[in-house]
Amino acid sequence: MSTQRDYYEILGVPRDAAADQIKSAYRKIALKYHPDRNKDNKDAEAKFKEAAEAYAVLSDAEKRKRYDQFGHAGVGGAGMGRGGAGGFSMEDIFRSFGDIFGGGGGGGGFSFENLFGGGGGRGGPRRGASLRADIQVTLEEVATGVEKELELTRLDTCGTCDGSGAKPGTKKTKCSMCGGYGQIQQSQGFFSIQRTCPTCHGQGQMIASPCSACRGEGRVPKRETKKIYIPPGIDEGHVERLSGQGEAGEQGGPPGDLVLVIHVEQHDFFDRRGADLVCEVPIRFAQAALGGSIQVPTLERDDEKDGRPKFVEMKVPAGTQPGQVLRLRGQGLPTAGGRARGNLLVRVTISVPKKMTAKQQDLLEAFDEVDAEHQREANKETAKSGKGFFDKIKDMF
Ligand SMILES: [Zn+2]
Ligand SMILES: [Zn+2]
Repeated sequence: MSTQRDYYEILGVPRDAAADQIKSAYRKIALKYHPDRNKDNKDAEAKFKEAAEAYAVLSDAEKRKRYDQFGHAGVGGAGMGRGGAGGFSMEDIFRSFGDIFGGGGGGGGFSFENLFGGGGGRGGPRRGASLRADIQVTLEEVATGVEKELELTRLDTCGTCDGSGAKPGTKKTKCSMCGGYGQIQQSQGFFSIQRTCPTCHGQGQMIASPCSACRGEGRVPKRETKKIYIPPGIDEGHVERLSGQGEAGEQGGPPGDLVLVIHVEQHDFFDRRGADLVCEVPIRFAQAALGGSIQVPTLERDDEKDGRPKFVEMKVPAGTQPGQVLRLRGQGLPTAGGRARGNLLVRVTISVPKKMTAKQQDLLEAFDEVDAEHQREANKETAKSGKGFFDKIKDMF
């Protein structure tokens, strides 16, 4: 490659050509001698490099002025200022003038647009990561609502550099790899592929003196304790998205979310069915038969009794049967939103004594004698109407 050829001549433009004219002339030549179209053509490669060198000088007002005044000596023979005279590599060219080849707009029907991913976009601002926190609550906490303290470590915008990553008082510099474009052009076989600059990760800028607090990251891990209020009546698996409370964005991008997933712990005594609470309470045989009232635990705690469960009274009607479900209105859980309350459903079981005192035994035997007599009388009555227990059994066979 000759570094002595006149740059205006190389690009075929007059000495007073405008910047636009120079750019368009260069683009035409660059496309013509582009390596993708001139496989293993040394001559084309030389012309391609030569044009790039000419363009590097003439597209830069400062260099162009020096060149006009002093010729090649004024610009060290190469516009890139790197490696001295003629030290242009293909990489340098794509790095510096990648944008020349990008986009359509003329160029003789051959476009070097990025064929993969439609442009991709520069790195630039990126949304921060969303964080997920799983929170366990007890059924008691579902009943009342609760405030939980959530400890989390998340990346927060660095307060020292305001997220820029540059030491306060310093500025970012243009990335030398991509010339500030954030993208580099690479030849891969037939295609010219534009991809994110690996040096600046697409930001186009480099941090000369990184902020010491965040080491140039712009974000710092921050340990936080967040107070999270969980309202009454929350469901198992409930998802709450706290918008913008996740990790800080990169390069001024928006922050991610904090996603809370609520888990309700199993309770030893109560099952949950929507807003209803279901439990099983054993009562004595005589209580079931005679009726009366029993004490049923609730989810509420009694502060005067060392936080043990509070009990409510429940009426048991005479003749209550095993497995019967009795309902206590409004003693369930609040519905989500807290406007209504579910019921407490008590399934009654009958506890049969395993061991009895002599007195219990005597009394129960006396009772059974009377009871058996009573049953016989009752059966006689129903036998007449043909709807007795034994008649039903007969029907079964
Ligand atoms: Zn910082
Ligand atoms: Zn770069």
